[in-house]
Amino acid sequence: MSIAIFDMDGVLYRGSQVMPYAKEALDRLRRAGWDVFFATNNSTATRLDYLRRLQTLGLGGDLDHIVTSGYATAHYLERRNPKPKDVLVIGADGLREEVRAVGISVRDANTLPGSHPPPDAAADGVDPGAMRRYLVSLDLPAAPDAVVVGLDLHLTYAKVAEAQRAILAGAEFVCSNRDRAYPVEGRLLPGAGTIVAAIEIATGAKAVCIGKPEPFLFEEVIRRAAKPHGDRVVVVGDSTDYDMVAAHRVGAAGVLITTGLTEKDALKAASGDAVPDRVVHSLEELFDLGEFAGA
Ligand SMILES: [Mg+2]
Repeated sequence: MSIAIFDMDGVLYRGSQVMPYAKEALDRLRRAGWDVFFATNNSTATRLDYLRRLQTLGLGGDLDHIVTSGYATAHYLERRNPKPKDVLVIGADGLREEVRAVGISVRDANTLPGSHPPPDAAADGVDPGAMRRYLVSLDLPAAPDAVVVGLDLHLTYAKVAEAQRAILAGAEFVCSNRDRAYPVEGRLLPGAGTIVAAIEIATGAKAVCIGKPEPFLFEEVIRRAAKPHGDRVVVVGDSTDYDMVAAHRVGAAGVLITTGLTEKDALKAASGDAVPDRVVHSLEELFDLGEFAGA
């Protein structure tokens, strides 16, 4: 069976708006016997959250065909030998849930050292020394055996300090993705990569990255599809640096769709693995490509 892997945001929808021909394209591929998967670098939501979203938008799909970077991260940890037993997550609840779902114990965000500073220490611009004294006075638990980092909208200095302490004590260092930016309604916010970089600087260590452009996310999709050898895999995405690079790293064909391109010159500037095999300007145009012949 042939495998189609769709990036979601910017390809099938933007915010709450479904892209033209999204539903038709997915139905058409499924009817023609393609195994259609959804993959995202976002680790803040669980697969179940994505399933609900796809259903609300009328795009179909089921849990078995959704792979997030959080889910792929959890399965990466599960396959490690030795498998980590005690993980510190700097990230969202969605990421913690996925790691717990593979039977790994995750520290509760609310109990991390430094998460409850007294008011004089917590107030910015009042008494910086109070925060320092609070942090160094904490009773620290044994370090976890792995640190997993994703997008954390509640990042604090204390969390970075705890990740630093764990990694310097020998914990494995894994991140769900290194996205520079987090595009949300009408503006850009800092992405998970911003936080990963801070912890890399603090430790001198380099995180193993699971999300695109690294191959692990798509490898997880292909593993789940149990692809018979020799079948074709096509990735449809809107990013040269992430989707196209990751596609090529797993031996898939990369189709770039220009509907969601956030960086205007990205296509012109692309080199090496970032260069798409095909470029389309709409989902309908996919069916003009030889890759999707017969669908
Ligand atoms: Mg995208």
